[in-house]
Amino acid sequence: MATIWGSLLQDEQQLESLAQQAVDRALAEGVLLRTKQQPSSSDVVNYAPFTLFPSLVPSALLEQAYAVQMDFNLLVDAVSQNCAFLEQTLSSTIKRDNFTARLFDIYKQVLKEGIAQTVFLGLNRSDYMFQRNADGSPALKQIEINTISASFGGLASRTPDVHRHVLNVLSKTKEAVKILSNNPSKGMALGIAKAWELYGSANALVLLIAQEKERNIFDQRAIENELLARNIHVIRRRFEDVSEKGSLDQDRRLFMDGQEIAVVYFRDGYMPSQYSLQNWEARLLVERSCAVKCPDIATQLAGTKKVQQELSREGMLELLLPGQPEAVARLRATFAGLYSLDMGEEGDQAIAEALTAPNRFVLKPQREGGGNNLYGEEMVQALERLKDSEERASYILMEKIEPEPFGNCLLRPGSPVRVVQCISELGIFGVYVRQGKTLVMNKYVGHLLRTKAIEDADGGVAAGVAVLDNPYPV
Ligand code: ADP
Ligand code: MG
Repeated sequence: MATIWGSLLQDEQQLESLAQQAVDRALAEGVLLRTKQQPSSSDVVNYAPFTLFPSLVPSALLEQAYAVQMDFNLLVDAVSQNCAFLEQTLSSTIKRDNFTARLFDIYKQVLKEGIAQTVFLGLNRSDYMFQRNADGSPALKQIEINTISASFGGLASRTPDVHRHVLNVLSKTKEAVKILSNNPSKGMALGIAKAWELYGSANALVLLIAQEKERNIFDQRAIENELLARNIHVIRRRFEDVSEKGSLDQDRRLFMDGQEIAVVYFRDGYMPSQYSLQNWEARLLVERSCAVKCPDIATQLAGTKKVQQELSREGMLELLLPGQPEAVARLRATFAGLYSLDMGEEGDQAIAEALTAPNRFVLKPQREGGGNNLYGEEMVQALERLKDSEERASYILMEKIEPEPFGNCLLRPGSPVRVVQCISELGIFGVYVRQGKTLVMNKYVGHLLRTKAIEDADGGVAAGVAVLDNPYPV
């Protein structure tokens, strides 16, 4: 996408001065992260990296992403309830991927014992990039859906005022009012509040499973604050605390430090490195309870890249969302090419194609959190190594999306202000609540735009690659 800030990007002195004003406004608005040096303390904080200018996003694609979000909520919920689908889809993956296998073990254990939970809460974020069509027009293509610990809904509500400020400084008041207001964390809190209410115990708490080192604390606090404003109390505990002080009563109600827990909200537990043996035990304890888990183990599995790939198979959406052809069409329109690497002819062919045209593909393991995917020469080497081994089933292959780059400044503490060529990734936050078989809430609650330099293939804001941004609808 071209930029309308073109001439502004030429004037280095003006960019410097604008950047200073933008950073001060960001700090004042609470666009904050703890520092790398002190990730467990708020004594010293800094601004979360962000773009100097909002980036152009076609209104039609923004609307399309919002319009399909409720369908994605339904789809994730349907997958999470479909044991046969999960089992079949993940059968080859769990043979080769230890982390997915452990999650799956917990899933099976809970199924065997019987699911105690009756209220289900999904807080997800579906991420997209804008693929350039052959005729030059952009198309919305899903990168992935995050069903656990989807972040930046809090900080994303603070950045619109920063970009309005920048445009107002430039006397671009008409442009400033085009920046959309956005409050995903409020919507997420309303989902948690609904689940808490349906759990039905006035004194029960929300338990936020937190990491010891958490730079993104202010993002999480935004949700906690919204809940407290509704008189719902949140306690933050680590897996280790749960393992030491958590317990189930005979009705499998979850207690932490003697207090009943209505909702468990995970901001940890999505990467292998986050689990010690003790943490796995704590996760199992929580999953066995009747507390509302966000997400429950099945919904976490529904967010794996292997599931994403299988969903793109012909007929799959129709099977999972019967009688909903319009939802199916909206979903399918956002799918990029996704290819199984399971042993067999189909996988062989996908590998052969990727080796012939490496720049058109991305190789993805079953991991979250950024920085795990392989591109270009690295992908070729990995495919050469994997192609005759069953290990390849722990990966999927995906069509590489190539958005049109544009100029913007990525503002980071300690980095010089300079214009770089960038691409953006749009995320839409979705919330749903189900009680038994009845869906009692299904909505979209806001967006997140992240922008990164084109030379950085992978990674999000937390990984230090992308920065926060706002869509400027055109
Ligand atoms: P993670 O779970 O680690 O966030 P993602 O699938 O979101 O994994 O990939 C991480 C990053 O890699 C994305 O934010 C995006 O920048 C880039 N990426 C992922 N898939 C593609 C793709 N198909 N085409 C282009 N870039 C991609
Ligand atoms: Mg991602």
